[in-house]
Amino acid sequence: MNNSGIKILVTGGMGYIGSHTVVQLIARGYRVVIADNLCNSNRNILSRIAQIAGQEPQFYEIDLCDKQALNDVFKKEEDIKAVVHFAALKAVGESVQHPLKYYRNNLISLLNLLEVQELFDANNLVFSSSCTVYGEPDALPVTEKSPVKPATSPYGNTKQVGEEIIKEQCTASNLRSIALRYFNPVGAHESALIGELPIGTPNNLVPYITQTAIGKQPFLRVFGNDYPTPDGTCIRDYIHVDDVAAAHIAALERLLNPPSESEGFEVFNIGTGRGNTVLEAIRAFEEASNQKLPYHVAPRRVGDIEKVFADTSLSNSVLHWKAEKDLHTMMASAWEWEKKLKINPLV
Ligand code: NAD
Ligand code: UDP
Repeated sequence: MNNSGIKILVTGGMGYIGSHTVVQLIARGYRVVIADNLCNSNRNILSRIAQIAGQEPQFYEIDLCDKQALNDVFKKEEDIKAVVHFAALKAVGESVQHPLKYYRNNLISLLNLLEVQELFDANNLVFSSSCTVYGEPDALPVTEKSPVKPATSPYGNTKQVGEEIIKEQCTASNLRSIALRYFNPVGAHESALIGELPIGTPNNLVPYITQTAIGKQPFLRVFGNDYPTPDGTCIRDYIHVDDVAAAHIAALERLLNPPSESEGFEVFNIGTGRGNTVLEAIRAFEEASNQKLPYHVAPRRVGDIEKVFADTSLSNSVLHWKAEKDLHTMMASAWEWEKKLKINPLV
């Protein structure tokens, strides 16, 4: 398919997954426009994207909660054909403390986006959802037909409600949308120019590991080793961020060239299909970085899911997409990014 010149709006395109996706979109010949308010990202990412991709995408520093500003972007850009919507707040714990902040940011921005898309007849949308919608699954691996469980955090609820809002809008209008339920995106671009940028102390395992190894954190706490898993620690489906980014290209291309059997709203799991324990992740990091990681076993983290990993057969067969990078590559790239960040910080 020739995509040259098709214009794509990437909301949250300065963020972790967004920046990796922007790089791949440019490589595929799309014209990329980013809208981001930089609330969890850094302006210097733009020149790093340009360094990798060979061109700088158009960037608008706007808050999607400002509908007029979003409207102005669509008006100015004229021919946006599709939107990849990453922009959202994503810290589960913070969402429990400040639920209204999360509902306002994640849902008002989505409503504004859907209204403006309808106004400008930009009827294709890829939405960032999450495996959090499955909660603690009854059976593994999790398929897209597995039940959506009551959300355990306001953040998780914004993903569930977001999917429902989009589904209803697809029924009511010309919108076509694909929601991608990511499992655990980790790692960084092979250039180590872009990667995950946690603000403050990280909550997630891999940035905590790399920050421990670089000396920003004294040691890693392994939250619980008495789960019913082979080594007692929790199981997740870690997936390289480049593979996650590639899934967006596949989803976009399905939306832009819809096969006759495709539906207005579709959902796909984006994982590797493999589950790894926390201790396996630590061992993979130690091998990839060639150093020992200081860690202690600590009590279970409240609200943690015991084990979850994806059945990816639907995304493999329908999106013609498959995760390619293994845990070692994920850890090696995360480590290269952390080291480069020390030498060449973004701020
Ligand atoms: P990120 O925080 O790195 O990127 C999100 C970007 O959106 C940031 O650049 C931020 O500045 C921007 N943003 C937030 N609210 C905005 C607003 N109102 N207006 C304009 N810009 C705004 O997060 P990420 O890890 O790249 O995640 C991207 C998406 O994927 C999010 O929707 C997240 O919920 C979802 N997701 C992430 C993970 C993960 O583990 N990283 C897992 C599942 C789902
Ligand atoms: N984890 C841990 N120590 C940390 C951070 C995370 O042991 O400092 C564990 C956590 O209990 C879970 C796994 O690592 O079993 C992945 O956690 P993360 O927060 O990255 O992802 P999520 O739980 O949201 O899937």
